[in-house]
Amino acid sequence: MSDRSTPWKLVIHGGAGVIERHLLSAEQEGAIRAALDHALKTGAAILEAGGSALDAVEATARELEDDAHFNAGRGSVFTYQGTIEMDAAIMDGRNRNAGAVAGVTATRNPITLARTVMEQSPHVFLSREGADQFSRDHDLEQAPPEYFATPERRAALEDMRSQADYFDADLKYGTVGAVAVDSNGHVAAATSTGGLTGKRWARIGDTPLIGCGTYADDRAGAVSATGAGEFFIRATVAQEICARMRMLGEGVRTAADSVIADVGALGGTGGVIVVTSAGEAAFAFNTPGMYRGVASADGRRVAIYADE
Ligand code: ASP
Repeated sequence: MSDRSTPWKLVIHGGAGVIERHLLSAEQEGAIRAALDHALKTGAAILEAGGSALDAVEATARELEDDAHFNAGRGSVFTYQGTIEMDAAIMDGRNRNAGAVAGVTATRNPITLARTVMEQSPHVFLSREGADQFSRDHDLEQAPPEYFATPERRAALEDMRSQADYFDADLKYGTVGAVAVDSNGHVAAATSTGGLTGKRWARIGDTPLIGCGTYADDRAGAVSATGAGEFFIRATVAQEICARMRMLGEGVRTAADSVIADVGALGGTGGVIVVTSAGEAAFAFNTPGMYRGVASADGRRVAIYADE
């Protein structure tokens, strides 16, 4: 039954990292703000019309995947070998159903593949050739390697290869994520990424790992993360934020800040977006910036730098 008593809310990110005013041209900054706003608008229209949080986060993440400014779908970063391997996860807070994929190479929108795994397979998590095959078997839109590749990401790989210690030196994480609460008080989370520039050995980050980069539970809220996945995995970031709210009764800001502080104590950088099933929202990050935005019935707002 729909009581329509919860004010809907949508929160997004397009990655966190060393994002400072002097590093972005006015043109780049304007284009990124416009892209974030466009994605917010897409998800907000679904929620405004009474649609589900799950539909809203998928549609929002698809917009961000299609935009080459972000490290997901088109514009994904390159592996050490010069290929593109994408990870994505989606979770429905109503029943904690979840779907995830890792190392997929040809699906135009990996977030939709994650949702298809959730809804049309008996599994939660598929990887690599098998996940690519599942995608084709379910007639999801495929794209050739040239579709995902951009000259900027190619240059970032070359730059990294030229350095002795080449582990994503610019610390700019462009993963995309969306969390939402709908007017029925249900939450959902979606996260999609190309991972880290120069990743090797079929490395998988936190993004597709349920409880690490992505989590949703109506008893608490929904979380999507971006940052140095190795640390977010060890801190089980997304599930811990939900657990703190549910079991310690912490407010959304305290829970998010505590877990990002924990990531920082381990040596990691990045950020999270959170909504609760009661309609509260928070951002938390320990980097100079995070591409982010929030939409509700009161309007839309996007931000980049920490002081906004
Ligand atoms: N968290 C992602 C990963 O480690 C990277 C990112 O946030 O951009 O794969």
